[in-house]
Amino acid sequence: MADHQQHVKSHLRGFQNEACADFTLPESRAAMEAALAAARAKFGRQWKLVIGGKCVESGATFASTNPAMPDEVLGYFQKGTPLLAARAVEAAAEAFRTWSRSPAIIRIAAAARTAELLRERRMEFNAWLVFEAGKSWAEAEAESGEAIDFCDYYARDMARLDGSHPVLQLPGEKGEIRYLPLGVGVIIPPWNFPLAILAGMTVAALVTGNTVVIKPSSETPNVAALFAEVLLEAGFPAESFNFITGSGSLIGDALVGHPKTRFVSFTGSRDVGLHINELAAKAQPEQLWIKRVVAEMGGKDAIIVDSDCDLDAAVEGVALSAFGYSGQKCSACSRAIVHADVYDAFLERLKPRVERITVGSPEDPQFYMGPVISAAAQQTILRYIDIGRQEGFLLVGGEAFGGDGHFIQPTVIADIEAADRVFQEEIFGPVLSVSKARDFDHALEMANDSQYGLTGAVYSHNAEHLALAREEFFVGNMYINRKCTGAMVGCHPFGGFNMSGTDSKAGGPDYLLLFLQAKSIAERL
Ligand code: NAD
Repeated sequence: MADHQQHVKSHLRGFQNEACADFTLPESRAAMEAALAAARAKFGRQWKLVIGGKCVESGATFASTNPAMPDEVLGYFQKGTPLLAARAVEAAAEAFRTWSRSPAIIRIAAAARTAELLRERRMEFNAWLVFEAGKSWAEAEAESGEAIDFCDYYARDMARLDGSHPVLQLPGEKGEIRYLPLGVGVIIPPWNFPLAILAGMTVAALVTGNTVVIKPSSETPNVAALFAEVLLEAGFPAESFNFITGSGSLIGDALVGHPKTRFVSFTGSRDVGLHINELAAKAQPEQLWIKRVVAEMGGKDAIIVDSDCDLDAAVEGVALSAFGYSGQKCSACSRAIVHADVYDAFLERLKPRVERITVGSPEDPQFYMGPVISAAAQQTILRYIDIGRQEGFLLVGGEAFGGDGHFIQPTVIADIEAADRVFQEEIFGPVLSVSKARDFDHALEMANDSQYGLTGAVYSHNAEHLALAREEFFVGNMYINRKCTGAMVGCHPFGGFNMSGTDSKAGGPDYLLLFLQAKSIAERL
């Protein structure tokens, strides 16, 4: 174990999380403003599919639009078809023959170069994240940093996994383990981290010697198309990654169900993840393997506020975790569970804190919160707010605004019980429920009363309570006396329990193994 730790550390020596630009500095502001203007000048480009290294048109397109100004078209994308999806998997299978045998050093260099190119083009990616995903400058900058971190971390970690690995030696034999790539991977990211999650899943698959078909979310294909350009420039062969856009429900099954697909790396909602898992489990005629599915899914993340804690810090942590990026993070706090002794004081302080949150066009850095991603998301969130009004009482917010833009006020619904729908169901918007717990045990019981288990936090000064939470709070990423969003690559390997997914621990030393299979070799001496 100690050897393993040492090995991990030595290869990651020199890895550092990217620092974020400080947009209060005039030069950072100017760089971001220039990037926004440059991106705007490129609106309306028509993008193609890339299959087997060649650009392909499908005959029909769809538009990607700005959630803050839905009339603004950012780009046009091909509507992929099941036939084209099958062609993409077959092209990736062909390319696997050579890419899987390429020396690790070539793949590592391409992954490291991807990090460098993203670093050089960081403001450009920030700008597209603002326009296409509705991120504030600070959220966009943090996401671009995370994307760079993933590429850099996986490049370094591949060096650890390459080559021969020791096993116990039988007398008269020489034994070893080597890690081999799996085959064709289908990469299906969500829209809420269209760069970082896409980059992480894709580069992990490619650096380990697999080939991929990338199918981005139809909400954010522009960011993905730009990232595909970076992969090519970084030295990943054009044939090693295919790029196909279009409706997930239309082409998703063709990709996941194809007999030559070897694995699926999915991040998105619970229902789509379960569907993919089920379809992938069914062996198709001529299929030679059991498909591997890594599915990172939804969350219903809770912050427990104990009676003995720094209440101001708890209010701040809850507000930041609940309303950063309009609550559209899988790690967002959507349930505050507060000890009865401090419940009223907590609400009293939370209300003005949330009322201070500014909402408006993410192009303008004065606003903390931008829009939600789409008109459909806005409608779903408003329906949940209505349900919440009936289940509890509306403390703050509750309204949509901004004309055509998909804006919703930061909303807090208090006096919610564990059986209530807004306590149990993922809303994925700026809606926080607050519940009263009799004591710490009850708070913990409520926090665990969920089908999900992604992130969670506890604010407490009570050592016994913290020890209990370490043991019993059933989440993949638990934080103590800090917010529950903002996982850093290498420091907080990320992935959840229960219906939050397969606990892949992205950005940690176990992640690349999900893209590899171990071969044991023993030679009689
Ligand atoms: P979604 O499930 O609607 O879509 C995710 C991806 O799946 C998209 O690319 C979509 O086009 C594709 N897809 C849709 N139907 C498909 C099908 N039948 N076959 C194959 N692919 C299909 O999720 P979303 O709205 O993009 O993202 C939000 C969700 O993602 C939330 O539930 C959030 O909690 C979750 N999420 C989880 C994590 C995590 O690490 N656990 C991280 C980010 C987001």
